[in-house]
Formats: sequence, structure tokens, C-alpha cells
Amino acid sequence: MRDDRPVVVIGSGFGGLAAAVRMRAQGYRVLLLEARDQLGGRAAVFERDGHVFDAGPTVITAPYLLEELFALAGRDMRDFMELVPVDPFYRIEFADGSRFDYVGEEERLLANIRELSPPDVDNYRRMVKHMEAIFDVGYTKLVDVPFERFTDMMKVVPDMLRLGNHRSVYGMVSRYMQDERLRQVFTFQPLLIGGNPFRATSIYTLIHWLERKWGVHFAKGGTTSVVQGLGALLDDMGVEVRTSAPVEEIEVEAGAAVAVRLRGGERIPCRMVVSNADPSFVYTKMIAPEHRRKHTDRAVGRKHQSMSLFVAYFGTKKQYPELAHHTIVLGPRYRGLLDDIFDNKVLSEDFSLYLHAPTRTDPSLAPPGHETFYVLSPVPNNESGLDWSKEGQPYFERIMDALERRMLPGLKENLTTSFFVTPDYFEEELRSVSGAAFGIEPRLSQSAWFRYHNRSEDVAGLYFVGASTHPGAGVPGVLNTAKVLEKLVPRLDESERVPLPSSRRVAV
Ligand SMILES: Cc1cc2nc3c(=O)[nH]c(=O)nc-3n(C[C@H](O)[C@H](O)[C@H](O)COP(=O)(O)OP(=O)(O)OC[C@H]3O[C@@H](n4cnc5c(N)ncnc54)[C@H](O)[C@@H]3O)c2cc1C
Repeated sequence: MRDDRPVVVIGSGFGGLAAAVRMRAQGYRVLLLEARDQLGGRAAVFERDGHVFDAGPTVITAPYLLEELFALAGRDMRDFMELVPVDPFYRIEFADGSRFDYVGEEERLLANIRELSPPDVDNYRRMVKHMEAIFDVGYTKLVDVPFERFTDMMKVVPDMLRLGNHRSVYGMVSRYMQDERLRQVFTFQPLLIGGNPFRATSIYTLIHWLERKWGVHFAKGGTTSVVQGLGALLDDMGVEVRTSAPVEEIEVEAGAAVAVRLRGGERIPCRMVVSNADPSFVYTKMIAPEHRRKHTDRAVGRKHQSMSLFVAYFGTKKQYPELAHHTIVLGPRYRGLLDDIFDNKVLSEDFSLYLHAPTRTDPSLAPPGHETFYVLSPVPNNESGLDWSKEGQPYFERIMDALERRMLPGLKENLTTSFFVTPDYFEEELRSVSGAAFGIEPRLSQSAWFRYHNRSEDVAGLYFVGASTHPGAGVPGVLNTAKVLEKLVPRLDESERVPLPSSRRVAV
């Protein structure tokens, strides 16, 4: 007898979308429930005054992970979206007025390093070999395999020690690079996934090699077109998708997930649950305490949640053709600022920013002659106790002043539209504990086996994908969480599989 109850996927971030595709491709019936009125989670879109603002991720790396999803359904990703390479990957503006173009091509990269610090050319050559070796273990061998048993972890410890992964990202990079600016260039990457370079294990230096190997890409139409492409793929595969459908409770009977209950009371029996909602939230708010032995409120409370973000979205009637697509605008302090964000949990006077200028690659994202921007500033999560309803506006103005001074002359008189989100958006809209922007912090004690497992130890038939699970945050990270999931769920016999619809649709 075929079991026609659906697998319920809760949440439509990239992790949830990828999980729905993979579960459906395995022959399960799949129902995706998203609390908000649009798909994408952190990769939502805001449309204002003719501007298209990607809310979150803008840098697409490892595009093969997206290609795989379309291939699973016999489709070609290029029929659904267009990814274009970005060059430079990032421009870094230092507080002393110097700048660095971080590019993928080795010869150009070496030339840029030479301009800042000639001895670091050879240092970089040695360092990148080390990073490649870390990538070969940390990514190639481990990124999409489950870490369920402590012995899984023990097997990789010798490699990790040999590669120096007990050191932090900054600790490893500074053993090679002498120039402090270049140390910052090659250590800011963990911040893209919520990690503190002074604490995140040097495994995360593999991000540099990953960017060099597969490039940095942008989706024409913005990251939202990737979300829409995946939405069209789900439709094509016969996955039922419901938005504005917040799940309030996962019902557990005899230790197994049997149904979900939506706000308003609707009960949906299910075969299993795959949660893209954050495990810290799910365990403490959506599963009754009597069903939790490991993930008690106390255990969850001990986790270190990642930093949060302040993000301002704005449009201008002036164009800035000299800008790169992605710019990191560094402030005067590096370590001190990170201490304030991660440990002291205070809002500093100074800040470092990431400026996104998507109209440099795709002018269609703004009205003719205008630019679309967002600027992001890492800030403490809501454990800070900051009242963002008071802090938000002055912080926004300080950032606009700094941008006008350093990057965008005439910004304020050319501003046509603007709004911002604070850690409260992550806490209230995206249901993240403490308003963390990237799930639990990627530090050694919360990585691999120590991260939330992709299969619940407390509730049978409950699985997790997304930023707080192994391997972690970032678009490639969460797409890989769905690959881990695929290795954990039961394989169906041919007779049990719900066949894919035969119709083939080309979306764009
Ligand atoms: C501003 C910003 C910029 C970033 N830039 C980049 C970048 O350039 N490149 C990169 O690789 N990464 C970037 N990241 C990180 C990356 O966006 C995230 O790590 C990743 O998108 C998170 O995906 P996820 O699968 O964990 O799901 P999320 O995006 O967190 O989505 C979870 C979904 O679950 C839904 N949900 C939660 N609870 C319920 C419930 N009870 N019922 C129903 N639905 C529920 C939420 O509404 C949400 O839609 C950025 C993040 C931010 C915030």
C-alpha cells in the first residue's frame, strides 16, 4: 500500500526549497508550508517605487548545487534563471583610503596583493595551498555527509589537527599574511555566514577556495529570480506549496511526528516533517516539552546564537558607475568591533559595511537612470537588549552619512526611497531566536557533530535543514543541508514512489 500522506516541509528558505525538491525527486508526496506571504525566507524580495531589493543573499557561489536540483527533475537550470559571473568578487575599501579588488583570477589577484604588500605574494601562494587542502577535506569529503554519531566526528579529527583547524580563521591567515589589510581581506568570509573570524575554526577558510574554484555569481533579476525558479520547479514537480501558512505545533505521538497544526487550528497529518524553521525555535516553541529529552529549553538556551544585521535598502536618482557590485567598507577597528558585536553586545560608534549595488550588473532592478542599493552592518543579536525602535533611525542616518562621505557623494540629496530592517525583523518575521541572522554561530563547539543534527534525536520522523544544521549557513551551506537530509530519509521502493508529473514546463 502506498502511503499518500505528505512529507511536510516547514519553511521555504533555500534549505526548505532544496529539501522539497530532493524529497519529491525521491518519490515522496511533498507539501511545503511557509508562514510568510512569499517564498525565500531570508532571500525574500521587497519591491518599492520601481526598485527590486533582494532582502538577503546576493552572492551566489557553488552554482552546481542549484544545477543539481533542476537535474533531479530532468530539467535544465538555464531554462529557469540566468547566473552571471561578478568581477571583482568584492572590492574592499579600507579606513586609510586604500582599496583592494578581490578577484578570482590568480595572476590579477597576485598583482593586487603586490600593490599592497610585495612580500605577501609568496605568502599568499603558500596560504592558498593550505586553504585548498582544507577544502579537499572540509568541503569535498564532509560538507554533505551526515554527522550523527560522535565517531563520525572522531574520524575527521586527525585530518583537522593536521590542517590546523584548531586555530581560528584569523589565527591561520595571520601566520601567512603580514599586511594587516590583507589579513582582513582573507578573514572576513566567516562573517558572511555569521561567524567571528577570531573564533570560527580555520576550516572556514575553505570559503576562499570555494569562491576561486566556482566563482561569484549574481542572478539576473536578483536572487529573488533563483527563488522564483525553484518555486516554478516545485510546481513543475507537483509539490503543493502554501504560503501564509504558519505551523504552530508539531504533533508527536508515541515519539514520532504525526501531524502539524497551523495557526487557526487546521491539522495536517503527515508522513514525516522536514523543518527549515530554526531548530532552536522549533524545539522550544513548537514541540511540547514532554517529547524532548535532549533539546530541553535549557539546552537550547545554552547555544550561542549568531550575530544579527541591520540592513538599509535605498534607491537614488543619481548613478554611481565607478562602484563595484559588492563592496566591503571597513571601519577603523577590526577585532575591537567584532568583540563589541559578538561578545560585548553593544552598538559601537564605528561600523563596517557591505554595500550591494545590483544595478551595476542588472539595471532592470531600478527605474531608468536610478540605482538600487542595500547596505548591511553586522550588529549584536537581541541578547544586547537594544531597543531598535529607538536605535534604528539614528543608526540609519549615521550609516548614510558615512556612505556619503566615503562612497556615494551627493547620496542624501539624491535619495528617492529608503527603509531598513533591524534584528527585530529576524526575530519577529523570520522566527529566529534572539534575532540571529545566521542561526547558531559557527564556532568549533557548534560545528559538524556539535551542530544541530539533521535528524532529530528526540522525535522520530523529524528532520532539519537550514542554517543552524550541518554544514551551516550561507546559500551553499543550506543547499548542502538538503543533501545531508537526502542521505538520512528512508529510500522508497519503486511501488511506493509517487511518480513525477509527465508535463514539462519551461519557466522563462
Ligand atoms: C542580509 C543577509 C545577506 C546575506 N547574504 C548572503 C550572501 O550573499 N550569500 C550567501 O551565501 N548567504 C548569504 N546570507 C546567508 C543566507 O541568506 C542564509 O544562511 C540562508 O538563506 C538561510 O536559509 P535557510 O534555509 O536557513 O532558511 P531561511 O532563509 O532562514 O528561511 C526559513 C523559512 O522558514 C519560515 N518559517 C519559520 N518558522 C515557520 C513556521 N513555524 N511555519 C512556517 N514557516 C516558517 C520562515 O518564514 C522562512 O521563510 C545572507 C543572510 C542575510 C540575512
